[in-house]
Amino acid sequence: MIDEQWEEFASKWENIKDGNDRERWAKELEEDDSLKTWKELGRRQEQGYKWRHGLLMHTKLVEYEHYSDALVVPKEFRGQILKIAHDNGGHFSTDKTVKKIRKRFVWPGIVKDTQDYCASCRKCQSNSSYMPRRAPMVARLTEPFESVALDLVGPMEKGKGGNRYLLTCICLSSK
Ligand SMILES: [Zn+2]
Repeated sequence: MIDEQWEEFASKWENIKDGNDRERWAKELEEDDSLKTWKELGRRQEQGYKWRHGLLMHTKLVEYEHYSDALVVPKEFRGQILKIAHDNGGHFSTDKTVKKIRKRFVWPGIVKDTQDYCASCRKCQSNSSYMPRRAPMVARLTEPFESVALDLVGPMEKGKGGNRYLLTCICLSSK
């Protein structure tokens, strides 16, 4: 259900054939300086970039002999795509969100943008189950005698009581 929304959204943008959306997209594309290099590569049809009907596409090899086309996204539309891919997509991790977007869209710095977006997502922040669980590097000790180190020292010269071994006990919490 959730992914259907994404599919619907993605295909809508993928098939920008007519109407205002397409014009807006093309206009933003034209004015977007962050895409300067890619647009130039598109004009020269290099490195998988190409212009098609006024839209910039990037073709990449997905697996052996299988290519996939992605729409190059102007700045203006990136936030919207991130929101729908992440928020409506079940708040998945950065990696999963990037993978999902990349199947259809691409822009310079897509990984960084997605990282930033996911890191600032309120829902991900407020619900710890969405966050990666990490074991603490060292055990935190708070209470005295919560953990102690025992060591046996010896044999030593017999003392007055005839003992040759010494048992040491160090409290690791308070030392
Ligand atoms: Zn989230």
